[in-house]
Amino acid sequence: MSDYEDHLEDALSETTEPAEPTDRFSVPDPALRREGETTVYDNFDETVDRLDREPDHVLRYLKRRLGTRASRDERGRARLVGSFSTDRVRELIDDYVAAFVTCPECGSPDTHLEREAGTVVLRCDACGARTAVTERE
Ligand SMILES: [Zn+2]
Repeated sequence: MSDYEDHLEDALSETTEPAEPTDRFSVPDPALRREGETTVYDNFDETVDRLDREPDHVLRYLKRRLGTRASRDERGRARLVGSFSTDRVRELIDDYVAAFVTCPECGSPDTHLEREAGTVVLRCDACGARTAVTERE
């Protein structure tokens, strides 16, 4: 190996992040602001991307738990009717993650939902576990 290649390898190993498993699946903090009677969830689409779930599925869950109406606008923001705190919404997103994202067997967020005969099953891509979702959608 030449000196040049040697250096190159050093540089590469410095810039490569070690693939450490994270204990907790981290979702961006909800960025909320009031707009009249509406709470606008500015980074809703970013959050949904991170969750890797259908925006409507997440929104339906928030609506049910908050007991309010909500819609998504053309920029992917969620508009929740009423006034809700960041803490409250963060808590609900955490609940959503626990119910619909994290594998109960191995804790991996690397999962997807499957529908089978009217039930929803959380399928883990990491360990292969299949778990019936008991949380109402
Ligand atoms: Zn698993």
